[in-house]
Amino acid sequence: MSTFSHLSRRKFIVTAGATAAGAVLLKGCSQPGANTASNNTSSAAAPSPVAAGDAPETTKATLGYLPIVESAPLIVAKEKGFFAKYGMTDVQVVKQANWAGARDNVVIGTQGGGIDGGQWQMPMPHLITEGIITNGNKLPMAVLMQLNTHGNGIAIANAHQGKQIGLKINDPEYIKGFQAANGRRFKAAFTFPNANQDFWIRYWFAASGVDPDKDIELMAVPPAETVQGMRNGTMDAFSTGDPWPYRILNDKIGFMSALTAEIWQNHPEEYFAMRADWVEANPKATKALLKGLMEAQQWCDQPENREEMVNIASRRQYFNAPKAVLTGPWSGTYEMGDGKAAINDINKGSRYWKDPNGNSISYPYKSHDLWFLTESMRWGFHKNVLTDFDAAKKIVDRVNREDLWREAAKEAGFTADIPKETSRGVETFFDGIKFDPENPQAYLDSLKIKAA
Ligand code: CA
Repeated sequence: MSTFSHLSRRKFIVTAGATAAGAVLLKGCSQPGANTASNNTSSAAAPSPVAAGDAPETTKATLGYLPIVESAPLIVAKEKGFFAKYGMTDVQVVKQANWAGARDNVVIGTQGGGIDGGQWQMPMPHLITEGIITNGNKLPMAVLMQLNTHGNGIAIANAHQGKQIGLKINDPEYIKGFQAANGRRFKAAFTFPNANQDFWIRYWFAASGVDPDKDIELMAVPPAETVQGMRNGTMDAFSTGDPWPYRILNDKIGFMSALTAEIWQNHPEEYFAMRADWVEANPKATKALLKGLMEAQQWCDQPENREEMVNIASRRQYFNAPKAVLTGPWSGTYEMGDGKAAINDINKGSRYWKDPNGNSISYPYKSHDLWFLTESMRWGFHKNVLTDFDAAKKIVDRVNREDLWREAAKEAGFTADIPKETSRGVETFFDGIKFDPENPQAYLDSLKIKAA
């Protein structure tokens, strides 16, 4: 990549490292300023289809995001004027230092200089609601929308080239026997425990017969530290999201064993959720935010908009990354490395509104919330709260507000894209395992590797 200079690469590494390590809440500037073309298109969004009596209770909301492709609908809704179109003229989209920072900021809320809601890995909203990751402080949250699918994957350090570590691990003994051969266990990292990227790498290891709790060392590590470890030979695998895979390949640090698009096609990825007290106080404003995000998701899925999306997101106040870092992921172009064929399929990259089968991506299916809690039970997470499937389903019913998604979609005229069912039905993983939300026990029974 000629446009991807050594200087800009170093700058991205430094920035991303600082972002991961810092606990400072970085306020995103609300005025872009730097990009005139975008300012023009931004101001071109038509004002306002807000019907009389439908005016939102407030025009303000403060929404957190992390600089990864999942956040695109939030950034696009702000920059392209989709929030404003529905009367939400004072939305702040605020970069979070990391997942723990986002969690802490939603607990303190905007009263304390934090956030009202935003982008989450799953099932963080459920865990915050139950006080599990907030020191017992139960803060009810409302899951309102799925932000995206795909855009994540499993990266492996270059030291393991040629060991047939792909979507399937053809020689699991290489990993299981790593300690005996090398004096330390095979080491893998994710960015936040008991959430998406932890689940993706656990599923991937276990499907090939590697027990992530017994055969390897698996832990939460900040991204920059993980990548440095892969470079210097102290870290072996990283469950990560775009744009990190591009960087890892481009900087010749490692290769991609699998994309999440290959592990579980059209899987649920990250979500939009807000404090439930905010939603209850501002139901019309909540729906206005949803309508703006729905339009943003539709806009994001148009291939002809992807170049502008790269231009917007790469700016300093958002990802602060060279455009080349985002162009690959958002065109579905992945160098996989280790002799594997490159992938060039926009449907295998992050998508936002509707999948190629015509199913909604945006709709927060309760069946997917249940999978995240079932997978938590598989690995023995939160045993004192997730005592059985009834307990899990009660948490889903408390947190999931698919009803508001439906109302918002109907009011905005997206009726053709409203799912008929509140479940997406039976899900199938790459290894043939099926998850039937009507019978989650059968799924657990079918899995060979799980916590006792
Ligand atoms: Ca992710």
